[in-house]
Amino acid sequence: MYTERVIAEFTNPENVGEMADADGVGEVGSPTCGDIMKIYLKVEGDRIADVRFQTFGCAAAIASSSMATRMIRGMTLAEAWSLSNGDVVESLGGLPPAKVHCSVLASDAIRAAINDWRTRQGLPPWDAGSRGCCGEAEPENG
Ligand SMILES: [Zn+2]
Repeated sequence: MYTERVIAEFTNPENVGEMADADGVGEVGSPTCGDIMKIYLKVEGDRIADVRFQTFGCAAAIASSSMATRMIRGMTLAEAWSLSNGDVVESLGGLPPAKVHCSVLASDAIRAAINDWRTRQGLPPWDAGSRGCCGEAEPENG
C-alpha cells in the first residue's frame, strides 16, 4: 500500500532529532491517528538554514516529516509556509487515502515552527487558517 519512496523515507529518514538551539519550534498532533510531530528550524536571514524533526507516529507521518524537512531546507520562510501537504504527498509518490491526513501534520508543524520564529522576532504570526491571506504578512505566492 505504501510506495517505495515512502518506505525508503520511513526506513531511512533524514533530519531526525532534536535541535537544542532552534530558532523556531512547532508541534502538532493528529487527533485521528495519534501522530505527534515536532519540527525545529534554524533560520538565517529569511532562509531555513537547518531543520530537524521528531515524529511519534505511523509510517506515513514519519515519511512525510522526512520528505517535508528535506524539501524546506534552504527555502525562504515564505516558500516553506506555502509548501502544502499535496506537495509532500506528490514527492512521496502518493499515500494511501486513509493516510493523507498524516502528511498534513508536516505542513502544519512547519507553519507552527515558522510562526514560533515570527513571534520570537516580535512579528505578527501568519494566519495558518486561511493559508496566508492578508496584509504585509502575506507570503510571496500566498
Ligand atoms: Zn498517521
